[in-house]
Amino acid sequence: MSRLAVVCGGSRGIGRAVSRLLAAQGCRLAVVSRNQDAARATVASLDGDDHVAFSCDVSKEPEVQKTFDSIQKLCGNISFLVNAAGINRDALLLRTKPEDMVALLHTNLLGTALTCRAALRSMLHTQGAAIVNIGSVVGLKGNAGQCLYSASKAGLEGFTRSLAKEVASRNIRVNLVAPGFIRTDMTAELKEEDRMRSIPLGRFGEPEEVAQVVLFLLKTSYITGQVLVVDGGMQLVM
Ligand code: NDP
Repeated sequence: MSRLAVVCGGSRGIGRAVSRLLAAQGCRLAVVSRNQDAARATVASLDGDDHVAFSCDVSKEPEVQKTFDSIQKLCGNISFLVNAAGINRDALLLRTKPEDMVALLHTNLLGTALTCRAALRSMLHTQGAAIVNIGSVVGLKGNAGQCLYSASKAGLEGFTRSLAKEVASRNIRVNLVAPGFIRTDMTAELKEEDRMRSIPLGRFGEPEEVAQVVLFLLKTSYITGQVLVVDGGMQLVM
């Protein structure tokens, strides 16, 4: 049977591109997002017909547990987990509302920890299981106006490296992809021309360009606990 991949945040942007690429490679997909109609629309667009959409807020532990129980029951053991669910609430720290701080940390950092925890037991039963978390170049370098977002993504680096150490003996690999500016809903309001000077390759990336790197990290066999930056060279000049 083909391998099962769970993509959290798979309904839009980077997660949708990852879902499409994995389906094109023959994986069965469980696409997870809060908006079930959007997840269903992604599922309908995938190659093959053995895919399922799930509605789940990854920041809420009972929802995550229930969703992963349903995935196990309906689809079987998980081979791949991609954590692309994320939000931004850009503002200087002095103007950031406490509820936005909580939402950022709960969705981007805690959400990833919860889904990894919920998926691991199932992953123990598959050969060569792998997790890819989506961080950000600002988690490595920092960015004014994104203190809590950057903190959540920096937290993912420590989380990824630690989990990689915890599960390596079970041959489960855990890596982090750190994108720069990628053309998705999250960056739709940014003016690309204003950012050009900060990107050596001179353009925003496409979600498909991140998806290729995610696929590489899922399919390869001897890389774990690493951060792969996909940013058009942005980190070089930050
Ligand atoms: P989008 O806004 O395009 O998509 C975000 C996805 O996450 C949607 O599927 C959304 O679905 C889902 N999502 C958001 N919150 C939750 C939640 N609480 N529970 C479940 N699903 C959720 O973002 P991108 O594709 O651009 O971003 C994907 C990841 O990449 C994020 O972690 C982001 O921080 C990171 N990233 C993005 C960059 C960029 O330039 N675009 C740069 C660096 C990192 P729904 O709203 O229905 O829940």
